[in-house]
Amino acid sequence: MRAAYDDQNIFARILRGEIPSDRVAENDHAIAFRDIRPQAQVHLLVIPKGAYVSYDDFAANASDAEIVGFNRLVAQVARDQGLSLAEGGKGFRAITNSGEHGVQEVPHFHLHLMGGHDMGRMVSPR
Ligand code: AMP
Repeated sequence: MRAAYDDQNIFARILRGEIPSDRVAENDHAIAFRDIRPQAQVHLLVIPKGAYVSYDDFAANASDAEIVGFNRLVAQVARDQGLSLAEGGKGFRAITNSGEHGVQEVPHFHLHLMGGHDMGRMVSPR
């Protein structure tokens, strides 16, 4: 059984063009835009165009073309933002939060791509 998708979530509305976003890249299957409350010098969100609630929903149910398209856009953005090791950048952190314990705010799958400086420890100790 799949989690229900709320098509009124803020990223669904961004995808439909109902609210603006600071878009940096797009391909057939995904878009990338700046996080409205950046927590790093570079803080972008990459989201699929399809209706997927979380990373595991996307990984389990998206088509191969969607999965490839999404990941290629992550690579493109990392390169374009100067984060990619392959281009002499210093790397980045990629985070995807899922559900209550992952503290996911927006129920449309998204990957946070963060960098521009040392990102510190991965999580705070409990
Ligand atoms: P998460 O907690 O992983 O669901 O993260 C959701 C992220 O979406 C947060 O970092 C928010 O700052 C970001 N966010 C919420 N609304 C918008 C918006 N309209 N445009 C860009 N980013 C947003």
